[in-house]
Amino acid sequence: MKKAAFFEKLGQKKVRCNLCPHHCLIGDGKSGICLVRKNIGGDLFSENYEKLSAISTDPIEKKPLYHFYPGKKILSIGSVGCNLKCKFCQNYEISQVTVDEFAFLKSYTSEEIVQMALEKAENIGLAYTYNEPIIWYEFVLETARLAHQHGLKNVFVSNGFINPDPLNILIGFMDAFSIDLKGFTEDFYKNLTSSGLAPVLKSIKQIKKADKHIELTNLVIPGLNDDEEKFIEMIDWIAEEIGEDTVLHISRYFPMFKIKNLPTPESKLESLYEIARRKLTYVYLGNMKTLEGQNTLCPNCNAQLISRSGYITKIEQIDKSGNCAHCGQQILKYYSS
Ligand code: SF4
Repeated sequence: MKKAAFFEKLGQKKVRCNLCPHHCLIGDGKSGICLVRKNIGGDLFSENYEKLSAISTDPIEKKPLYHFYPGKKILSIGSVGCNLKCKFCQNYEISQVTVDEFAFLKSYTSEEIVQMALEKAENIGLAYTYNEPIIWYEFVLETARLAHQHGLKNVFVSNGFINPDPLNILIGFMDAFSIDLKGFTEDFYKNLTSSGLAPVLKSIKQIKKADKHIELTNLVIPGLNDDEEKFIEMIDWIAEEIGEDTVLHISRYFPMFKIKNLPTPESKLESLYEIARRKLTYVYLGNMKTLEGQNTLCPNCNAQLISRSGYITKIEQIDKSGNCAHCGQQILKYYSS
């Protein structure tokens, strides 16, 4: 356990956590909405500090990040808890439990994690992922700082529901962000995730303004967030506020946790893909049986630059500078052959 960052002491041993926009008011002995930040005697503690539920070397494409060192591996770590309550959560076994409820937590120090990352072949760094890393903020920062000192990259895979001040500090230690943009209405965020859209949009803009690499993922759930008008609004917002070259992953939903809707029809995803491509240069389809929408094409000469099949990535026509080897168009800012 570690004393938490970003909280204020109130009277009667109550505390206010200011890490995320929930601003939980937490009484002595109680935890916040995320289940892992606990008030003990009038101080707030991170209960999942140094406690990991999963550690695995993943392809960077699994985060998903397609334009950040494609084809490389990244040591990925996760803990338990989440500040959102998504009814369709794809990782609910670790996101909706306390440290006491999850029987397989293992203790690791930041030094041990960084050492492990340094020893893995072809590994570019560390990804904070699987459950929401915002709510194990202290361990993420400590580990990311150490990882940078050793020349490793840091990747943050998140729902983006965090307050600007803690995000600002985090941005200083991260190299890339994979952010879920789960829908484009406040109603969707309120009813399906128990949070809000506006803070997520604010975080995305803040990350972009800091000039960090960012890719967005939109999980499309039939009947809940697949309305084409709203989808067009979302694409317009991304193109105007974040840029037409923003990488967007449109992902297929499968029934999980409390939502039992049928999986998203592939035809629906293909239709949304076509809509997104009218404004955005790099759009990809995820969780699909077909290979449609997986490859990176040059927006200038249409040459196939990177092909992907599952998590097998083949660099075909990218030069050493990350440009199209065919016409020289700049494609990847973050690349090593
Ligand atoms: S991080 Fe957890 S405790 Fe803090 S405000 Fe968010 S949900 Fe509440």
